[in-house]
Amino acid sequence: MSTNGTMLAAVFRGPGVPVLEERPVPRLERAGDVLLDVELCGLCGTDLHVLADPPGHPAEPGVVLGHELVGTVVEIGADVVDLEPGTRVVVAPNLNCGTCAYCRRGLRNHCIRFSTIGIFRDGGLASRVVVPAVACHPISPGVPAEIAALVEPLSTVVHGVERAAIFPGETAVVLGAGPVGLMFCSLLHHAGATVIAVEPLEERRALATRLGALVALDVGSLAEARGELGADVVVDAVGTQLPAALEVVRKAGRIVLFGMNAGASTEIHQYAITRNQLDVLGAYVGQDVFPRAIALVEQGRLSLDGIVSERVALEAVPEAVADMRNGHEVKVQVEPV
Ligand SMILES: [Zn+2]
Ligand SMILES: [Zn+2]
Repeated sequence: MSTNGTMLAAVFRGPGVPVLEERPVPRLERAGDVLLDVELCGLCGTDLHVLADPPGHPAEPGVVLGHELVGTVVEIGADVVDLEPGTRVVVAPNLNCGTCAYCRRGLRNHCIRFSTIGIFRDGGLASRVVVPAVACHPISPGVPAEIAALVEPLSTVVHGVERAAIFPGETAVVLGAGPVGLMFCSLLHHAGATVIAVEPLEERRALATRLGALVALDVGSLAEARGELGADVVVDAVGTQLPAALEVVRKAGRIVLFGMNAGASTEIHQYAITRNQLDVLGAYVGQDVFPRAIALVEQGRLSLDGIVSERVALEAVPEAVADMRNGHEVKVQVEPV
């Protein structure tokens, strides 16, 4: 932050890479908001979709990007009761209205006025951000920053594993070992499953086995991933892998569709779903999943080492986004000093 009340921010201006701009340091305006000092903020596949040409995910032009953040409360609005300056928090970026028909049915992740910090309103790729107190979840200062900044994507994986309803002793095949697929490998293993990862990139396959997969296979090895009976659970962490999932799952098994690709459409063999009595389950962000994701990282037993491939300064964000696009990174996190 400069002395004239401005700060550097990585801003969405359209397809390409984020634009570095000097922005006024945000101030509290609503009584339910808090001002955070950002410690670390991750970049993710959603950011790449936002910046793609044509865009694969909508976003508000002019918004400060960044929705995977850990920070410290600096100032609180008049109505904030549960947080105080100095509290370290992770931010649940998806906001809901609480009053629409979906919110009233307890489906707040399907709120019709759904909004996301770092996509539709200013996020964490800047040294300061104002967010609603309701989005902030305290986290122990003992959790390393790079792990704390993984809580947001981990929370969505917690929801995916919840949808899978995995039971110890079951087998799970994870299709795709990017950051999310790797977290699925780790959490499914932690939950007692035998995990098989399928991934084209060798270094990601190596990470998958380090994080809990029993084996990691190349994409040509679906028959091997299937084994004799087929997997109890198959997770598509990519967004295009339903046909492959149908090949690998056992009869009466579960397929969790987690990855999202708005441009993909694929022909499927519907007969196989009916004949084999499959459960095909969509998993979208989740709700009330932050407390469990935080508990997992505070317990320190879930293996997440190696998912973060690089930490960069805010100035290097445009370059880092270009590297991510080329597949040169797993997860990049940004320190907005
Ligand atoms: Zn993300
Ligand atoms: Zn709503």
